[in-house]
Amino acid sequence: MADPRSRVPRTDALLAHPRIAEAERVLGRAVVKSVISAAQQRARAGEIDPADVAQEAIAALPATASSLRPVLNATGVVVHTNLGRAPLSPAALEAVVAAGGTTDLEFDLATGRRSRRGRGALDALAAAVPRAEAVHVVNNNAAALLLAALVLAPGREIVLSRGELVEIGDGFRIPELLTSAGARLREVGTTNRTALRDYAEAIGPDTGFVLKVHPSNFLITGFTSAVGVRELAGLGVPLVVDIGSGLLAPHPRLPDEPDAASALADGADLVTASGDKLLGGPQAGLLLGGAELVERLRRHPAARALRVDKLTLAALEATLIGPPSPVASALAADRGELRARAERLAARIPGAVAVDCAAAVGGGGAPGVELPSAAVSLPESRAVPLRTGRPAVVGRLERGRCLLDLRTVDPADDELLLAAVRRCSS
Ligand SMILES: *Cc1c(COP(=O)(O)O)cnc(C)c1O
Repeated sequence: MADPRSRVPRTDALLAHPRIAEAERVLGRAVVKSVISAAQQRARAGEIDPADVAQEAIAALPATASSLRPVLNATGVVVHTNLGRAPLSPAALEAVVAAGGTTDLEFDLATGRRSRRGRGALDALAAAVPRAEAVHVVNNNAAALLLAALVLAPGREIVLSRGELVEIGDGFRIPELLTSAGARLREVGTTNRTALRDYAEAIGPDTGFVLKVHPSNFLITGFTSAVGVRELAGLGVPLVVDIGSGLLAPHPRLPDEPDAASALADGADLVTASGDKLLGGPQAGLLLGGAELVERLRRHPAARALRVDKLTLAALEATLIGPPSPVASALAADRGELRARAERLAARIPGAVAVDCAAAVGGGGAPGVELPSAAVSLPESRAVPLRTGRPAVVGRLERGRCLLDLRTVDPADDELLLAAVRRCSS
């Protein structure tokens, strides 16, 4: 019998296969060639039959030319930092595709003149928070805070509570971010308790502003006290409130989570927030406040370095005016319906059972809040094959089981989830 290696199809023959040629149009030659070469390698190593090389390559073709792999988030963590925070709504995704072409981003089609960049997104944000006299959008919340420090406190002091010295993640800390802008920090109070008097005593001629930061990823409980926005607003210096999560108005399920409208109503001069946490939009930093202050932020030289891209503006506008975002839907999902979905799915998967469980908001806000949820419970040994399958499914390991929490799975993806689970149960 001939050496099977001599039967491995040649690269040019595989590139001519209609399905592979079609994929090359979308993915480019380099991606397609590397997939082909991996399949040929498997045939040469005797892992697959040389006759199956084309099918093997076709099955391994990625959906896009990006190396990012689609993941079904079954962790029950609604805003999962490692899984890209908020997934965009279909409306936002379509807006991104349109914005990726040539558009009237900074052009008035009626007059043929230059127009204000991103006006649609800014108008939508302003309309969503009527309390704000003006709004601006930058790269992320960290950029929003940086810009506030550059404008309001260069060489001056930012007064903030020791209980609000937040590390955002990956080693980045808000206090260090602020001092990198040339401001000095004036820490007041203690880790667990800060009083209005502490702020009042720290304020002086060097004060740039008072900053209130939402401890969005930790809880200090027990003997604690913090000063609310309304009291801080009476101190006679600018008050900046970093609400973190990006809720524009109070959320019925998250009564303790701060929101932009309430902070402004309570007297904040400027509110900063992320776009890709509870707002459910793209990565962005939202700045809402007084007209004069927002204009100074907009005109600062660094604003150009922190500005958002057209894709972000398009996704933000569609998130603000479009149908509810996946994050909003995940927060609103009814526990009884989640349980019914879990039972329907578990009945179709050998070895699976439906269980009640508790989902969480995640690093995006509402620390300590449990959202009642339901999951498909599988043996823990399924976790790795699920994670490395296509699409990848990431569940939560709990007491020796792999839970697929349905609060963070779009019901429209249930069949996809089922197929992925079945593939690695066989
Ligand atoms: C998440 C968060 C930030 C950082 O926001 P990015 O948009 O990731 O830059 C800052 N402050 C608070 C309170 C946060 O929760």
